[in-house]
Order: sequence, then structure tokens, then C-alpha cells
Amino acid sequence: MIKPVRGTRDLLPPDTDLWNRVEAKVRAIFARYNFHEIRTPIFEDTSLFSRSVGEETDIVSKEMFTWEDKARGQSEKAQSLSLRPEGTAGIVRAYIEHRLGDAGTLQKLYLIGPMFRRERPQKGRYRQFYQIDAEIIGPPTAGSESPARDAEVLEMLATLLDEVGLRDWKLQLNSVGCAVDRARYNKALREALQPVVHQMCADCQRRAETNPLRVLDCKVPEDQPIIDRLPKISQYLDEPCREHFAAVRAMLDEVGIPYSINERMVRGLDYYTRTTFEFTHGGLGAQSAVLGGGRYDGLSELLEGPKAPAIGFAIGEDRLILALQSQGEQARENLQAFVAPLGSGMNRHALKLARELRRAGISADLGDENFRLKKSFELAEKAGAKYIVIIGENEVAADQFAVKDLASGEQVQIPRANLAAHLRK
Ligand code: AMP
Repeated sequence: MIKPVRGTRDLLPPDTDLWNRVEAKVRAIFARYNFHEIRTPIFEDTSLFSRSVGEETDIVSKEMFTWEDKARGQSEKAQSLSLRPEGTAGIVRAYIEHRLGDAGTLQKLYLIGPMFRRERPQKGRYRQFYQIDAEIIGPPTAGSESPARDAEVLEMLATLLDEVGLRDWKLQLNSVGCAVDRARYNKALREALQPVVHQMCADCQRRAETNPLRVLDCKVPEDQPIIDRLPKISQYLDEPCREHFAAVRAMLDEVGIPYSINERMVRGLDYYTRTTFEFTHGGLGAQSAVLGGGRYDGLSELLEGPKAPAIGFAIGEDRLILALQSQGEQARENLQAFVAPLGSGMNRHALKLARELRRAGISADLGDENFRLKKSFELAEKAGAKYIVIIGENEVAADQFAVKDLASGEQVQIPRANLAAHLRK
């Protein structure tokens, strides 16, 4: 028997009902904030990710699904391709490709789809997982650099999590500064690491040389006390970065969104500048981050595009669903009616009635004239229907139907014209 590939999984009903409910809510919220959908390919040129996410990140150095795509014929050349490990790089590539900045306005884009990382699978961590991404990107003249955008994004996320029904989320905030600050901070880290790095894990020893900031991502327990004593990024922010971060915080305070500052949160991608953030939830165990994001003011230029400061985030949809389920969120949408034909020749009448109900917006399932009434009742209950509608010869003749409320057991006769209204109650 062929098994699903390690780290992948099938999403089945009734869970998919919850996925769809969340996605429908999220799309409606995005529309209210004037975000519009973008769909990018799920595979791209490998160098898009190595240049943007960063060679030294775990994502690029260990986790990408990469293959050599052979040339077919004269007109193609061999190319290294990768399944997308995240959404932002592809969106910025599309922004550059289609000259979206030429409009002179902010682009507010969102993307929902699968991402791929060869991580060690565990609860809340998969090799194919789903992200809900959103980005605000545009030329500086459109205000893309403003702390107002950071605050708008964070306020939208707080509203989004509240409206999908997630309780007790926590927001952690940090500023990783601009490129100049980062260079100074990296230098300070390198110096501070020099006398202690030999006590640390092999990854940290390498990172201390190549990209010291990534040491802060280390999860090895023995390394944590050393990392806690390293210099803090806040000491290396220049005045404009400090002011930017203070402005973001002041706006969050104004609208009453609670947060805490976590100076170690640098996020596992190299393109971040200034604000970074994560929302966590207690119901997720070790993988507690529901979503993460931040500002990436230099990414477009890094990819040879125009200056286009930006801020964005990715919600881990798998984890959002797990967190909702940990709160007892119920998945299945209730079926309103089960239409049960009773006796031979009744299937066509039942189909006609079900058609009328479904067209009137009632969710209805349909039995079969060969089923005994007892079996129809069992099926209706299994389907979780609120009502069973019985349709036999007498009902067809009278043009009214026996409707039983499966919870209360109450049964009434309802004329065809009133049926949809009755079931909708
Ligand atoms: P990142 O793109 O690494 O900033 O991650 C953003 C969010 O995606 C995280 O907060 C998680 O909720 C989710 N995520 C990242 N990696 C995985 C994974 N392997 N499986 C499931 N969710 C993930």
C-alpha cells in the first residue's frame, strides 16, 4: 500500500469545513482592509529563495525541496528549481516583474496556499503546510515606510484572530533595525561570541562566523544561557529606527492592542528590517507560533527591483486550525435537512423537492426510495441533519410534507410553499 510522504497529510471532512470557514472569514476581513489576492507559482528559481530568505538560514541551507530541472530542447536551459518555502519572495518577485510599483500607490496583497520545508515532522510542523500571507508594499512616496503601516497590519491581525474566534493569543514585538544597525549588531555579536562559541553547538559555531544574528534562533537548550547574555539589538538601533519602533508601539497602545517586547525574536529569515513580530497561542505546545512577520524594506532592491519598503506576515494555517480545535471549536457546518423519499417512485419527487430547497439556500441531503424509514432516520442523524423531511405518496398528493425536528422529536406537516422558511428557522 502506498503511504503519504513523510510530513504530508490529507485534510479530511469535517476538518476541512473548519478550514473553509476560517478562509472565508479571512478573505472577508482582507476585503475590509482593502487587500487583494495574488497567486504565485508554488515553484520558483532556487536563487529567488537563497537570495531573499538567506543562504545561512535553516530554511535555505537545510529545508528546501530543490531539484535540477533538465533542459528540453535548444530553447531551454537547465535550471535549479525549488518548491516555495514561504510566500514573500515570490510576491516581491511578482511585484518587480509586473512593475506594480509604477501605479505609485501601495499594493496590499494576500496569498493563501501550500509551502514546503523539509523539517522534522511533529505536531504543528509539516513538510507541506499552508500559509495565509499578506503584504503591504510600494514606493516610499506612497508611504510604504511609515510606522502607520506596521500598526495597520498588527491591528488587522488582532482583529482577524479575534474574529476567527482565537482566544488568548499573545503578540511579541521586536525591532531588528536597518542594514547599518544590523552590521554593527552582528559585529558586536561576533565579538561577544568569540570567547564562548567553542562551548556552543556546531550550528552556532558556524553561524558565529557567517551570520551571527542566526545564533539567536538556536533551540539547543545548553546554548540558551549563553545566548541570553549576548548584547541586545535595542542597544544598536539608530535614531530613525528607534523612533519608527516607538511610533508603532504608540499606535498599538492607542488602539489598546497588548504586546510584549522580545529582543531575541529575530525570525528565521534574513530579509527582515525594523519591526518583527509573532503571535503565539498556548494550545499549540512546543510549536506555539501561530503567525510571524515583519518589515522588509530592502528586499525588492536585493532582488534588483525598485526601492519598495514593505511589511507582511504569514499565518500558519495548520496551526491556527489546531489552536482553534484546542479551544473546542466545532468543525462541521450543520446540515439543515435530510429529504427521505418513502416508497417506490418517490426518488424523482424527492429530487425535485431537494432541488427547490437547495436553490432556496437550504443545505439538504437526499436519501433513497429503497430505504426503510428507520434507515432514513439513521442516515439523517449520522449526517447531523436538523430536520428530516419525509416525502411519500400522501405527501406528494397533498403537496405538504412531514417535517420532524430530530433534536426535539416534534413532527409537523408543512405545505411546500412554507417549507424552506420553516427549515431555515
Ligand atoms: P515563517 O514563514 O517561518 O515566518 O513562519 C510563519 C508561520 O508559518 C509560523 O508562525 C508557523 O505558524 C507556520 N509554519 C512555519 N513552518 C511550518 C511548518 N513546517 N509546519 C506548519 N506550520 C509552519
